[in-house]
Amino acid sequence: MRDIAIIGGGASGLVAAITAARLGAKVTIFERQNRIGKKILVTGNGRCNITNIDMGAERFHTASKKDCYQPVVSKNVETTLAFFKTLGIERLIEKTKVYPASEQASSVVDVLRMEVERLGIEVLVDTKVTKLKPEGVKWNVLTEANDKYTFERIIVATGGLAAPQLGCDETGYSLLKALGHHQVPTLPTLVHIVSPTKYCKMMQGMRFKSEVSILVEGTKVRTERGEVLFTEDGLSGPPIFQLSRIAADSFAKKQACEIHMDFMPEATKEDLVATIYERIGNGAHKTIEELFIGWLNKRAVMAIIKQADVGSPVAPCENLDYEMVEALAEAMKKLVFEVKGTRGFKFAQATVGGITLDEVNLETMESLKAPGLYITGEVLDVDGDCGGYNLQWAWSTGLVAGESVLQN
Ligand SMILES: Cc1cc2nc3c(=O)[nH]c(=O)nc-3n(C[C@H](O)[C@H](O)[C@H](O)COP(=O)(O)OP(=O)(O)OC[C@H]3O[C@@H](n4cnc5c(N)ncnc54)[C@H](O)[C@@H]3O)c2cc1C
Repeated sequence: MRDIAIIGGGASGLVAAITAARLGAKVTIFERQNRIGKKILVTGNGRCNITNIDMGAERFHTASKKDCYQPVVSKNVETTLAFFKTLGIERLIEKTKVYPASEQASSVVDVLRMEVERLGIEVLVDTKVTKLKPEGVKWNVLTEANDKYTFERIIVATGGLAAPQLGCDETGYSLLKALGHHQVPTLPTLVHIVSPTKYCKMMQGMRFKSEVSILVEGTKVRTERGEVLFTEDGLSGPPIFQLSRIAADSFAKKQACEIHMDFMPEATKEDLVATIYERIGNGAHKTIEELFIGWLNKRAVMAIIKQADVGSPVAPCENLDYEMVEALAEAMKKLVFEVKGTRGFKFAQATVGGITLDEVNLETMESLKAPGLYITGEVLDVDGDCGGYNLQWAWSTGLVAGESVLQN
């Protein structure tokens, strides 16, 4: 039997602990909070989007040249769902997103906790690890309360910086940096994008299905479709979350960044010009603003009229000349929002950056700097898209480490 310490009782730490204990290891989990799996409870708006059946390397991002998809190939979606099935979790698939059939994140935590108990894994809650110290072939774990424990292997699963209100902080990175690891700078991601453009305030509270593109220094970098939510200080919603890592990165690099919003992605600009003329023909007595009633949300129309710069919204629509009609169609296809980074970690779901993959063997998750020490989950420099990819990274790396910790 081999003594293994897991630092962090979150998604990847719990899966690693269960995997190693099932293979016969004697496992202890150190968790700084008063209970394990706290962050899992808030995932997927309390429903826990466990994973996604639309899986691919393009869903994961890292600064390293290494293939960060490797652990997800090794312990893939089916392996993960089979693992959860053994614990009692049935799958519910919505489009491509996978949830527990109970639609309760608490069920995921419950089954993990029950398996931890069944396997006799020791759980030390309210126990913050402050130092990891190699001593010969063994490892000393030192805690904030000045307690010292000795183990043969360590798995560090301390998570990232997103949602600090749930108890995460920099200590995971510090533990690893003290052992010679390097950290890629961290930024919040899967988060609200901040924009000073006045249209945000004008459309505050509105949700609109549209196509959004992010441009850095004038070059389109990524395009997403879905429901955008307008807030007082910017833009939110699933497609915005997907673009947020680019917004955060460009802001950090002081690069010019814009979001272009297409309210009518199915129509060409020419289609829209033709429709505007048709509507003028049917309602020449209307104002410019009234021309759009029944076609577009009123508050979006105000923003479109403003950007198109066609004068007063209460001017007669029959006075619009061709250039003005074209400008309105152009604004419907490309409403421009200046981007000033993102909200902070408090509002984020994941962390860009972390401990570099260059110092980790991705076949085993063992550190290349500190043999006998393994690293899993969000503390590493990998972030996934919105839609179950971050948890998949946590589950996959936890499964890989939990298995290989006994083999090496
Ligand atoms: C609001 C929100 C919603 C999300 N929804 C989804 C979703 O639906 N799908 C998805 O895929 N991802 C989602 N995520 C992201 C996902 O939750 C994380 O990527 C995942 O939990 C990371 O797992 P982890 O094990 O690396 O870290 P965590 O789950 O954060 O666990 C790390 C644990 O380590 C403990 N710890 C840290 N330092 C120490 C220390 N020094 N000593 C002892 N213990 C320590 C922490 O208290 C924590 O319990 C969401 C995140 C948030 C914030």
